[in-house]
Amino acid sequence: MRFSNDMSIQFPNKSANEGFARVAAAAFVAQLDVTVEELSDVKTAVSEAVTNAIVHGYENMKGYITVACRIEGDLVEIKVSDSGHGIPDVEKARQPLYTSRPELERSGMGFTVMETFMDEVDVVSALGVGTTVIMKKRISEKD
Ligand code: ATP
Ligand code: MG
Repeated sequence: MRFSNDMSIQFPNKSANEGFARVAAAAFVAQLDVTVEELSDVKTAVSEAVTNAIVHGYENMKGYITVACRIEGDLVEIKVSDSGHGIPDVEKARQPLYTSRPELERSGMGFTVMETFMDEVDVVSALGVGTTVIMKKRISEKD
């Protein structure tokens, strides 16, 4: 039978929670037969998405971030959502080196990093409503 499981955590947009979310997602994914490298990929991607929700989604406002993880067989899906400002132009935002906050010494590589470490990244965003980043990764079969 295919193994399936899911979890969801919610926390306020404090930067201290970035580390919590990264470790919580990794601990959940570790139920699968993952390599250290696969776990590290998941941690890096979650870290980028949660940092974006804190820095950009809720810039100058308070709010909650949700990280929802689902395992279906060897497929891991992680959704990171905020109810913040939203992204005016998702296609532009996803381009390597694009940042709306150069003054914060951001490099504009967060989405590129997520795409590099996960198999699929989708972004759903609406101005004034918020942003959800949906990331999928297939965990390789081990012998
Ligand atoms: P870096 O991640 O390298 O520090 P960055 O955060 O600017 O820099 P990306 O993570 O690639 O780069 O994001 C690109 C841009 O997309 C951001 O500058 C911001 O304008 C927008 N963005 C990303 N996530 C969100 C979000 N959750 N809410 C609102 N805007 C976002
Ligand atoms: Mg970023």
